[in-house]
Amino acid sequence: MITVAEAEKIILAETREYGSELVDFRNAAGRILAEDIVADRDLPPCNRVTMDGIAIRYAAFETGIRSFSVKATQAAGDATIEIQNDECIEIMTGAALPDSADTVIRYEDVTIENGIAAVTIDTVKQGQNIHYKGRDKKKGDVVLRSGTRIDASVISMAASVGKYIIPAKHLPLVGIISTGSELVDAGSEPEAHQIRSSNSYTISAVLEQYGINADLMHLPDDKETTEQQLSQCLEKYDVLILSGGVSMGKYDYVPEVLEDLKVEKLFHKVKQRPGKPFWFGRHASGVLVFAFPGNPVSAFMCLHRYLVPWLEMNLKAKSSMQKAYAVLDRDVTFTAPLQYFMQVELRLNEQGQLTAIPVEGNGSGDFANLVDSDAFMELPLEQTNFKKGEAYRVWPFKNII
Ligand code: AMP
Ligand code: MG
Repeated sequence: MITVAEAEKIILAETREYGSELVDFRNAAGRILAEDIVADRDLPPCNRVTMDGIAIRYAAFETGIRSFSVKATQAAGDATIEIQNDECIEIMTGAALPDSADTVIRYEDVTIENGIAAVTIDTVKQGQNIHYKGRDKKKGDVVLRSGTRIDASVISMAASVGKYIIPAKHLPLVGIISTGSELVDAGSEPEAHQIRSSNSYTISAVLEQYGINADLMHLPDDKETTEQQLSQCLEKYDVLILSGGVSMGKYDYVPEVLEDLKVEKLFHKVKQRPGKPFWFGRHASGVLVFAFPGNPVSAFMCLHRYLVPWLEMNLKAKSSMQKAYAVLDRDVTFTAPLQYFMQVELRLNEQGQLTAIPVEGNGSGDFANLVDSDAFMELPLEQTNFKKGEAYRVWPFKNII
Protein backbone atom coordinates (compact mmCIF):
# COMPACT_ATOMS: atom_id res chain seq x y z
CA MET A 1 0.00 0.00 0.00
CA ILE A 2 1.33 3.44 -0.86
CA THR A 3 1.60 6.44 1.44
CA VAL A 4 -0.33 9.69 1.23
CA ALA A 5 2.81 11.44 -0.05
CA GLU A 6 3.23 8.84 -2.79
CA ALA A 7 -0.42 9.05 -3.79
CA GLU A 8 -0.19 12.82 -3.96
CA LYS A 9 2.92 12.60 -6.14
CA ILE A 10 1.24 10.22 -8.59
CA ILE A 11 -1.83 12.44 -8.84
CA LEU A 12 0.10 15.69 -9.24
CA ALA A 13 2.20 14.11 -12.02
CA GLU A 14 -0.99 14.06 -14.12
CA THR A 15 -0.74 17.49 -15.68
CA ARG A 16 -3.36 18.60 -18.18
CA GLU A 17 -3.80 21.76 -20.22
CA TYR A 18 -7.41 22.78 -20.57
CA GLY A 19 -6.74 26.11 -22.31
CA SER A 20 -8.57 29.35 -21.69
CA GLU A 21 -11.69 31.17 -22.80
CA LEU A 22 -13.18 34.64 -22.56
CA VAL A 23 -15.94 35.06 -19.99
CA ASP A 24 -18.17 37.90 -18.84
CA PHE A 25 -16.78 38.91 -15.45
CA ARG A 26 -20.25 38.76 -13.93
CA ASN A 27 -20.25 35.00 -14.49
CA ALA A 28 -16.65 34.44 -13.50
CA ALA A 29 -16.65 34.13 -9.70
CA GLY A 30 -14.49 31.19 -8.64
CA ARG A 31 -12.80 30.90 -12.03
CA ILE A 32 -9.05 31.30 -12.47
CA LEU A 33 -7.67 34.24 -14.44
CA ALA A 34 -5.71 32.97 -17.47
CA GLU A 35 -3.72 36.13 -18.33
CA ASP A 36 -2.35 39.18 -16.57
CA ILE A 37 -4.62 42.20 -16.75
CA VAL A 38 -3.04 45.67 -17.04
CA ALA A 39 -4.31 49.12 -16.19
CA ASP A 40 -5.67 50.88 -19.29
CA ARG A 41 -4.86 54.25 -17.69
CA ASP A 42 -3.35 55.61 -14.52
CA LEU A 43 -5.15 54.78 -11.27
CA PRO A 44 -6.45 57.16 -10.17
CA PRO A 45 -6.65 58.73 -13.63
CA CYS A 46 -6.40 62.30 -12.30
CA ASN A 47 -5.43 64.06 -9.09
CA ARG A 48 -8.53 63.08 -7.17
CA VAL A 49 -9.93 65.11 -4.31
CA THR A 50 -10.55 63.02 -1.16
CA MET A 51 -12.44 65.56 1.02
CA ASP A 52 -15.29 67.99 0.44
CA GLY A 53 -13.92 71.53 0.87
CA ILE A 54 -11.99 74.16 -1.10
CA ALA A 55 -9.11 73.76 -3.55
CA ILE A 56 -6.41 76.45 -3.34
CA ARG A 57 -2.82 77.15 -4.34
CA TYR A 58 -0.57 76.37 -1.42
CA ALA A 59 1.83 79.15 -2.44
CA ALA A 60 -0.98 81.68 -1.77
CA PHE A 61 -1.61 80.28 1.70
CA GLU A 62 2.14 80.39 2.38
CA THR A 63 2.31 84.10 1.55
CA GLY A 64 -0.34 84.72 4.20
CA ILE A 65 -3.57 84.77 2.21
CA ARG A 66 -6.42 83.33 4.33
CA SER A 67 -9.48 84.51 2.40
CA PHE A 68 -10.23 83.21 -1.06
CA SER A 69 -12.94 84.23 -3.45
CA VAL A 70 -15.02 81.22 -4.48
CA LYS A 71 -14.70 81.06 -8.27
CA ALA A 72 -16.94 78.06 -8.85
CA THR A 73 -18.27 74.87 -7.34
CA GLN A 74 -16.98 71.65 -8.81
CA ALA A 75 -18.75 68.35 -8.19
CA ALA A 76 -17.33 64.90 -8.88
CA GLY A 77 -17.60 64.38 -12.62
CA ASP A 78 -17.39 68.13 -13.48
CA ALA A 79 -14.62 69.39 -15.74
CA THR A 80 -11.89 71.36 -13.94
CA ILE A 81 -11.89 75.15 -13.60
CA GLU A 82 -8.59 77.00 -13.11
CA ILE A 83 -7.93 79.58 -10.36
CA GLN A 84 -5.67 82.54 -9.46
CA ASN A 85 -3.80 83.01 -6.18
CA ASP A 86 -6.68 84.70 -4.33
CA GLU A 87 -9.32 82.33 -5.63
CA CYS A 88 -10.55 78.91 -4.66
CA ILE A 89 -12.96 76.29 -5.94
CA GLU A 90 -15.55 74.67 -3.72
CA ILE A 91 -14.77 71.11 -4.55
CA MET A 92 -16.28 67.71 -3.74
CA THR A 93 -14.82 64.31 -2.98
CA GLY A 94 -14.10 62.43 -6.19
CA ALA A 95 -13.66 65.59 -8.29
CA ALA A 96 -10.52 66.11 -10.40
CA LEU A 97 -8.23 68.76 -8.91
CA PRO A 98 -7.62 71.73 -11.27
CA ASP A 99 -3.97 71.98 -12.49
CA SER A 100 -3.71 75.44 -10.93
CA ALA A 101 -4.58 74.12 -7.45
CA ASP A 102 -2.48 71.81 -5.31
CA THR A 103 -4.10 71.66 -1.88
CA VAL A 104 -7.58 70.94 -0.51
CA ILE A 105 -8.85 72.30 2.79
CA ARG A 106 -11.89 70.51 4.17
CA TYR A 107 -15.16 72.32 4.87
CA GLU A 108 -14.68 71.83 8.60
CA ASP A 109 -11.65 74.18 8.45
CA VAL A 110 -13.22 77.05 6.50
CA THR A 111 -16.18 79.40 6.79
CA ILE A 112 -17.86 80.59 3.62
CA GLU A 113 -19.82 83.84 3.50
CA ASN A 114 -20.80 86.06 0.57
CA GLY A 115 -18.66 84.12 -1.84
CA ILE A 116 -15.53 84.34 0.31
CA ALA A 117 -13.97 81.29 1.94
CA ALA A 118 -11.94 82.09 5.07
CA VAL A 119 -9.52 79.48 6.35
CA THR A 120 -9.90 79.02 10.13
CA ILE A 121 -6.78 76.93 10.80
CA ASP A 122 -3.09 77.87 10.83
CA THR A 123 -1.52 74.71 9.58
CA VAL A 124 -2.13 73.42 6.11
CA LYS A 125 0.07 70.88 4.36
CA GLN A 126 0.81 71.30 0.70
CA GLY A 127 -0.90 68.50 -1.27
CA GLN A 128 -3.24 67.48 1.53
CA ASN A 129 -6.49 65.62 0.78
CA ILE A 130 -5.45 64.61 -2.72
CA HIS A 131 -5.07 61.10 -4.11
CA TYR A 132 -2.49 61.68 -6.84
CA LYS A 133 -2.82 60.51 -10.42
CA GLY A 134 -1.12 57.14 -10.94
CA ARG A 135 -0.44 56.74 -7.24
CA ASP A 136 -2.02 53.25 -7.10
CA LYS A 137 -1.04 51.99 -10.55
CA LYS A 138 0.46 53.45 -13.72
CA LYS A 139 -1.04 52.83 -17.13
CA GLY A 140 0.30 49.45 -18.33
CA ASP A 141 1.04 48.14 -14.82
CA VAL A 142 -0.23 44.64 -14.08
CA VAL A 143 -3.23 45.01 -11.80
CA LEU A 144 -4.31 41.35 -11.76
CA ARG A 145 -2.02 38.39 -12.15
CA SER A 146 -2.72 35.28 -14.16
CA GLY A 147 -3.64 32.45 -11.80
CA THR A 148 -5.68 34.67 -9.49
CA ARG A 149 -8.95 33.21 -8.33
CA ILE A 150 -11.74 35.55 -9.37
CA ASP A 151 -13.60 36.99 -6.38
CA ALA A 152 -15.40 40.24 -5.62
CA SER A 153 -12.16 42.24 -5.33
CA VAL A 154 -10.90 40.92 -8.68
CA ILE A 155 -14.20 41.79 -10.33
CA SER A 156 -13.96 45.28 -8.83
CA MET A 157 -10.48 45.77 -10.28
CA ALA A 158 -11.41 44.31 -13.67
CA ALA A 159 -14.38 46.68 -13.86
CA SER A 160 -12.24 49.69 -12.99
CA VAL A 161 -9.82 48.99 -15.86
CA GLY A 162 -12.66 48.32 -18.29
CA LYS A 163 -12.15 44.56 -18.60
CA TYR A 164 -15.64 43.13 -18.55
CA ILE A 165 -14.71 40.22 -20.79
CA ILE A 166 -11.84 38.43 -19.12
CA PRO A 167 -9.65 35.46 -20.00
CA ALA A 168 -10.32 32.57 -17.61
CA LYS A 169 -8.90 29.07 -17.52
CA HIS A 170 -11.12 26.65 -19.35
CA LEU A 171 -12.59 24.06 -17.00
CA PRO A 172 -12.44 20.30 -17.39
CA LEU A 173 -15.69 18.46 -18.06
CA VAL A 174 -16.42 16.51 -14.92
CA GLY A 175 -18.79 13.61 -14.37
CA ILE A 176 -19.64 12.67 -10.78
CA ILE A 177 -20.92 9.15 -10.33
CA SER A 178 -22.16 7.70 -7.09
CA THR A 179 -22.42 3.92 -6.85
CA GLY A 180 -24.42 1.79 -4.46
CA SER A 181 -27.71 -0.10 -4.69
CA GLU A 182 -28.64 1.13 -1.22
CA LEU A 183 -28.70 4.75 -2.35
CA VAL A 184 -31.77 6.73 -3.21
CA ASP A 185 -31.97 10.32 -4.35
CA ALA A 186 -31.87 12.98 -1.66
CA GLY A 187 -35.36 14.08 -2.68
CA SER A 188 -37.01 10.72 -2.03
CA GLU A 189 -38.21 8.89 1.07
CA PRO A 190 -35.89 5.93 1.77
CA GLU A 191 -36.97 2.51 3.04
CA ALA A 192 -35.28 1.28 6.23
CA HIS A 193 -32.55 -0.51 4.25
CA GLN A 194 -31.85 2.46 2.00
CA ILE A 195 -29.94 5.69 2.51
CA ARG A 196 -30.07 9.03 0.80
CA SER A 197 -27.14 9.72 -1.48
CA SER A 198 -25.10 12.75 -0.47
CA ASN A 199 -21.62 12.37 -1.98
CA SER A 200 -22.40 13.59 -5.47
CA TYR A 201 -23.96 16.77 -4.14
CA THR A 202 -21.03 17.39 -1.81
CA ILE A 203 -18.47 16.93 -4.56
CA SER A 204 -20.45 19.03 -6.97
CA ALA A 205 -20.79 21.85 -4.41
CA VAL A 206 -17.01 22.00 -3.95
CA LEU A 207 -16.40 22.02 -7.72
CA GLU A 208 -18.98 24.75 -8.17
CA GLN A 209 -16.76 27.02 -6.13
CA TYR A 210 -14.34 26.83 -9.09
CA GLY A 211 -17.12 27.43 -11.61
CA ILE A 212 -17.35 23.76 -12.61
CA ASN A 213 -20.86 22.52 -13.35
CA ALA A 214 -20.45 18.77 -13.17
CA ASP A 215 -22.98 16.20 -14.35
CA LEU A 216 -24.31 13.95 -11.59
CA MET A 217 -25.08 10.28 -12.12
CA HIS A 218 -25.87 7.25 -10.04
CA LEU A 219 -25.14 3.57 -10.64
CA PRO A 220 -26.45 0.48 -8.86
CA ASP A 221 -23.97 -2.21 -7.79
CA ASP A 222 -24.46 -4.09 -11.01
CA LYS A 223 -21.45 -5.00 -13.10
CA GLU A 224 -22.98 -4.73 -16.55
CA THR A 225 -24.71 -1.43 -15.96
CA THR A 226 -21.55 -0.06 -14.39
CA GLU A 227 -19.45 -1.15 -17.36
CA GLN A 228 -21.87 0.24 -19.90
CA GLN A 229 -22.30 3.61 -18.17
CA LEU A 230 -18.65 4.12 -17.33
CA SER A 231 -17.69 3.30 -20.88
CA GLN A 232 -19.89 6.16 -22.10
CA CYS A 233 -18.60 8.48 -19.40
CA LEU A 234 -15.00 7.81 -20.42
CA GLU A 235 -15.87 9.11 -23.90
CA LYS A 236 -17.58 12.20 -22.67
CA TYR A 237 -15.65 13.66 -19.73
CA ASP A 238 -12.12 14.81 -18.88
CA VAL A 239 -12.39 13.73 -15.27
CA LEU A 240 -14.61 11.17 -13.57
CA ILE A 241 -15.15 11.28 -9.85
CA LEU A 242 -16.71 8.15 -8.44
CA SER A 243 -17.75 7.33 -4.94
CA GLY A 244 -18.33 3.89 -3.50
CA GLY A 245 -17.70 0.40 -4.77
CA VAL A 246 -13.91 0.36 -4.40
CA SER A 247 -13.59 -1.78 -1.26
CA MET A 248 -13.40 -5.54 -0.79
CA GLY A 249 -17.16 -6.20 -0.90
CA LYS A 250 -18.62 -8.80 -3.20
CA TYR A 251 -20.45 -6.08 -5.15
CA ASP A 252 -17.61 -3.58 -5.28
CA TYR A 253 -17.17 -3.74 -9.03
CA VAL A 254 -15.61 -0.38 -9.73
CA PRO A 255 -11.88 -1.30 -9.88
CA GLU A 256 -12.53 -4.40 -11.94
CA VAL A 257 -14.79 -2.61 -14.41
CA LEU A 258 -12.43 0.33 -14.80
CA GLU A 259 -9.56 -2.00 -15.60
CA ASP A 260 -11.75 -3.88 -18.10
CA LEU A 261 -12.42 -0.51 -19.73
CA LYS A 262 -8.66 0.05 -20.08
CA VAL A 263 -8.34 2.59 -17.33
CA GLU A 264 -4.85 1.96 -16.02
CA LYS A 265 -4.75 1.64 -12.26
CA LEU A 266 -2.14 4.06 -10.90
CA PHE A 267 -2.87 3.02 -7.34
CA HIS A 268 -5.48 1.35 -5.21
CA LYS A 269 -5.46 1.87 -1.44
CA VAL A 270 -3.55 4.49 0.47
CA LYS A 271 -2.18 4.29 4.01
CA GLN A 272 -4.71 6.74 5.38
CA ARG A 273 -7.80 6.96 7.51
CA PRO A 274 -10.39 7.71 6.40
CA GLY A 275 -10.25 6.90 2.70
CA LYS A 276 -8.02 3.84 2.57
CA PRO A 277 -9.70 2.15 -0.46
CA PHE A 278 -9.15 5.19 -2.76
CA TRP A 279 -8.55 4.06 -6.38
CA PHE A 280 -6.94 6.30 -9.00
CA GLY A 281 -6.36 5.64 -12.67
CA ARG A 282 -5.85 7.02 -16.17
CA HIS A 283 -7.40 6.04 -19.45
CA ALA A 284 -5.25 6.00 -22.61
CA SER A 285 -7.30 9.01 -23.80
CA GLY A 286 -6.01 10.98 -20.81
CA VAL A 287 -9.26 10.86 -18.85
CA LEU A 288 -8.53 10.63 -15.14
CA VAL A 289 -10.63 8.60 -12.73
CA PHE A 290 -10.73 9.45 -9.04
CA ALA A 291 -12.67 6.62 -7.41
CA PHE A 292 -13.25 7.53 -3.77
CA PRO A 293 -14.65 5.24 -1.10
CA GLY A 294 -18.36 5.75 -0.56
CA ASN A 295 -18.14 6.71 3.07
CA PRO A 296 -19.04 10.41 3.01
CA VAL A 297 -16.16 11.48 5.26
CA SER A 298 -13.69 9.45 3.18
CA ALA A 299 -14.96 10.95 -0.06
CA PHE A 300 -14.89 14.45 1.45
CA MET A 301 -11.34 14.05 2.71
CA CYS A 302 -10.04 12.61 -0.58
CA LEU A 303 -11.72 15.43 -2.44
CA HIS A 304 -9.92 18.13 -0.44
CA ARG A 305 -6.63 16.35 -0.03
CA TYR A 306 -6.18 15.13 -3.62
CA LEU A 307 -8.68 16.42 -6.12
CA VAL A 308 -8.73 20.11 -5.23
CA PRO A 309 -4.90 20.43 -5.28
CA TRP A 310 -4.85 18.54 -8.59
CA LEU A 311 -7.46 20.91 -10.02
CA GLU A 312 -5.68 24.03 -8.79
CA MET A 313 -2.40 22.79 -10.24
CA ASN A 314 -3.92 22.22 -13.66
CA LEU A 315 -5.80 25.50 -13.68
CA LYS A 316 -2.46 27.09 -12.76
CA ALA A 317 -4.17 28.74 -9.85
CA LYS A 318 -2.10 30.76 -7.44
CA SER A 319 -3.19 28.35 -4.81
CA SER A 320 -5.87 29.40 -2.43
CA MET A 321 -4.77 26.21 -0.67
CA GLN A 322 -1.66 27.77 0.83
CA LYS A 323 -0.08 25.44 3.34
CA ALA A 324 -1.73 25.95 6.71
CA TYR A 325 -0.71 24.55 10.08
CA ALA A 326 -2.54 24.53 13.38
CA VAL A 327 -1.55 23.81 16.95
CA LEU A 328 -3.20 20.85 18.70
CA ASP A 329 -5.11 21.95 21.76
CA ARG A 330 -4.94 18.50 23.43
CA ASP A 331 -3.02 15.21 23.28
CA VAL A 332 -4.11 12.73 20.66
CA THR A 333 -3.14 9.08 20.24
CA PHE A 334 -3.59 7.22 16.99
CA THR A 335 -2.01 3.78 16.82
CA ALA A 336 -3.06 2.38 13.42
CA PRO A 337 -0.20 2.36 10.87
CA LEU A 338 -2.10 4.86 8.75
CA GLN A 339 -1.90 8.57 8.18
CA TYR A 340 -4.76 9.96 10.17
CA PHE A 341 -6.90 12.81 8.87
CA MET A 342 -8.57 13.98 12.03
CA GLN A 343 -11.61 16.20 11.89
CA VAL A 344 -10.91 19.38 13.82
CA GLU A 345 -12.53 22.63 14.69
CA LEU A 346 -10.19 25.58 14.10
CA ARG A 347 -9.98 28.64 16.32
CA LEU A 348 -7.75 31.68 16.22
CA ASN A 349 -6.58 32.40 19.75
CA GLU A 350 -5.60 35.75 21.24
CA GLN A 351 -1.95 35.17 20.32
CA GLY A 352 -3.01 34.98 16.68
CA GLN A 353 -2.36 31.27 16.68
CA LEU A 354 -4.54 28.81 14.79
CA THR A 355 -5.53 26.05 17.17
CA ALA A 356 -7.14 22.71 16.37
CA ILE A 357 -9.71 21.07 18.61
CA PRO A 358 -10.39 17.44 17.67
CA VAL A 359 -14.05 16.80 16.96
CA GLU A 360 -14.86 13.57 18.74
CA GLY A 361 -16.74 11.15 16.53
CA ASN A 362 -17.57 7.56 15.83
CA GLY A 363 -14.90 6.86 13.23
CA SER A 364 -14.87 7.63 9.56
CA GLY A 365 -18.56 6.93 9.07
CA ASP A 366 -19.56 9.75 11.30
CA PHE A 367 -20.22 12.43 8.77
CA ALA A 368 -22.56 14.36 11.04
CA ASN A 369 -19.31 15.72 12.50
CA LEU A 370 -18.31 17.41 9.27
CA VAL A 371 -20.83 20.11 10.01
CA ASP A 372 -19.02 20.93 13.26
CA SER A 373 -15.52 20.57 11.79
CA ASP A 374 -13.54 23.14 9.85
CA ALA A 375 -10.64 21.06 8.60
CA PHE A 376 -8.83 17.76 8.50
CA MET A 377 -5.59 17.71 10.46
CA GLU A 378 -3.02 15.47 8.79
CA LEU A 379 -1.18 13.54 11.50
CA PRO A 380 2.09 11.94 10.33
CA LEU A 381 2.12 8.22 9.64
CA GLU A 382 5.25 7.40 11.60
CA GLN A 383 3.98 8.78 14.92
CA THR A 384 1.36 7.52 17.35
CA ASN A 385 1.37 10.22 20.02
CA PHE A 386 0.60 13.80 19.16
CA LYS A 387 1.04 16.30 21.94
CA LYS A 388 -0.85 19.41 22.85
CA GLY A 389 1.09 22.40 21.49
CA GLU A 390 2.52 20.59 18.47
CA ALA A 391 1.70 22.01 15.03
CA TYR A 392 0.51 19.87 12.13
CA ARG A 393 -0.76 20.54 8.65
CA VAL A 394 -4.47 21.22 8.23
CA TRP A 395 -6.71 21.02 5.19
CA PRO A 396 -9.46 23.55 5.83
CA PHE A 397 -12.79 23.14 4.10
CA LYS A 398 -14.54 26.13 5.62
CA ASN A 399 -13.89 29.83 5.98
CA ILE A 400 -12.70 29.99 9.52
CA ILE A 401 -12.49 33.70 10.25
P1 AMP B 1 -18.81 1.72 -0.20
O1 AMP B 1 -17.52 2.44 -0.37
O2 AMP B 1 -19.56 1.62 -1.49
O3 AMP B 1 -18.62 0.41 0.46
O4 AMP B 1 -19.71 2.59 0.75
C1 AMP B 1 -19.34 2.80 2.09
C2 AMP B 1 -20.44 3.44 2.89
O5 AMP B 1 -20.70 4.74 2.38
C3 AMP B 1 -21.75 2.71 2.83
O6 AMP B 1 -22.35 2.72 4.11
C4 AMP B 1 -22.57 3.49 1.88
O7 AMP B 1 -23.93 3.37 2.11
C5 AMP B 1 -22.08 4.89 2.08
N1 AMP B 1 -22.20 5.61 0.82
C6 AMP B 1 -21.76 5.20 -0.38
N2 AMP B 1 -22.03 6.10 -1.33
C7 AMP B 1 -22.69 7.11 -0.73
C8 AMP B 1 -23.26 8.33 -1.18
N3 AMP B 1 -23.20 8.70 -2.47
N4 AMP B 1 -23.84 9.12 -0.28
C9 AMP B 1 -23.89 8.78 1.01
N5 AMP B 1 -23.37 7.66 1.51
C10 AMP B 1 -22.79 6.81 0.66
MG1 MG C 1 -21.13 0.57 -2.12
